Order: sequence, then C-alpha cells, then structure tokens
Amino acid sequence: MCLCRSADELLMGGYGSGRYVFTGRCLPGARGRFGALNLALHVNDRHDDVIYNRRLLLHELLLDACCMSCVDQTHGNEILHVTEEIDQQTDSPLGEADALITVIPDRPLAIFTADCLPIALIDQEGKAVAAVHAGWKGTALGIAFKTAVAMVQLHGCDPVHMNAVIGPSIGPCCYDFNPNRLAESGYLSNRHTVKKPDGGITLDLRRANVEQLVEVGIPETNIKVVDICTSCNNNRYFSHRADGGDTGRQALIVWLA
Ligand SMILES: [Zn+2]
Repeated sequence: MCLCRSADELLMGGYGSGRYVFTGRCLPGARGRFGALNLALHVNDRHDDVIYNRRLLLHELLLDACCMSCVDQTHGNEILHVTEEIDQQTDSPLGEADALITVIPDRPLAIFTADCLPIALIDQEGKAVAAVHAGWKGTALGIAFKTAVAMVQLHGCDPVHMNAVIGPSIGPCCYDFNPNRLAESGYLSNRHTVKKPDGGITLDLRRANVEQLVEVGIPETNIKVVDICTSCNNNRYFSHRADGGDTGRQALIVWLA
C-alpha cells in the first residue's frame, strides 16, 4: 500500500480540451508489490492490484471511463488509432504499438514508462490527442515525428496550434550510452550525445524528440520539457536503471475532455 498522503505528485495540465497527466510512484491507496502506483500489467505485479490502481487513478482524475486504452509497447514506431470500433471496456493491450491517437472525447490513452520518454501531443482545437512512448530505439525510428505527422495528415491538426509535453524521463545526467549504437540510428546522431566530465557519454533523448516535433512544424515554444530525471528522482519515480530492471511503471494519460 502506498502510504503517501496526497496526490500532489500528479503533474497535470492541458491545452484547449486536451488534458494530460504524468503519474509518479505516489497515489494514496495504491496497491501492489512495489508499494506504489504501478500501472503496468507486464511487470509481475498482481493483476488485480494493477487494475485497482488504474481505477483509483481514473477516479482521482474524475474520468468516467472504465479503462485506459493501452498497447504492448515494443520500442518500435507503430501507431494505434483508438476509434469507436475499438473495445473501450478492456484493460488488455489493444495491440503492439508505441503511440496511441484518438479523436474521441473521454477516451483516456495510456503509455507506461520507467525512464523512457512519455510524450503528450495535444491539438489546441481539440481535433486529436496522442500519447507516445519514446526510448532510444523509438526515438531513432522517429516515433514522435511519425505520430505528430499522423495528427496533421489524418486529423487536420495545424502544427502551429499543437502542443507537446515531454514528461519525467531519464535525463542526459544519467543516461549512459554507447555511442557505437548510433551508427545505425536514423533520427539519433552524435549531436544528441553529451560528454560528461569523467569522459563518459550520455544521450539527450529529450533534445532529439524536441527536434522531431519542431521538424513537423510545432513551434518550440509550444513544447514543454519536464526537467525531472527519473533516475535522479528514483524515490518519486520508477526508474528501470536506478531500480536494476525490476520495477513498476508510471503512466502518461492523455484525453480529450
Ligand atoms: Zn539524472
């Protein structure tokens, strides 16, 4: 049971009718083996506890929806479009993808992370919203670029009227990275690496994703980067690296109100 006393750790905001929230470890009453708000089903937590935590969060957000639409995240660049035809009454992943888009009100989309970047894409005019999961592989494959382009081309969003929020994620302070891996990486290059004082190399995935969104035409002033490193702040956020691989997942939830 999570023993924190308030829901202050939820980072919430919105543009027009689009809303987003980034969760952390803490939500009073959360259950499960991590003693915190784990929202993912694939990390060996008790199934019933995870479902309980999801309901607790939706209730906290005053959302009527029974479920949050989610996917099996594969570090790829597939997008799942949440349409009226898709079952909204399920907690099961809707397919394999690393981004979700919807134009339907009150259909919360969820991406689960523990170091990777959760990115909310919101059209100020309410035409569509998206949730993106971008680790280094998805970033290299241009998942943020591809999702923003889909919002423009399929749903008529004007990039000038779009906002993006990159949530708590591993920062260039902590993301040690072997630069040899960049040889094969489309949207990632050496300019996204940072040299540490000790000679080590880290990766600035946030910068790389901001560039992808700017390339689509979203003004950089419309892109907010939450400067919280999940590894540095491991007491407040699940961190795959800081927790040695066995940990829960926080969520980005995006919806049209
Ligand atoms: Zn850090």
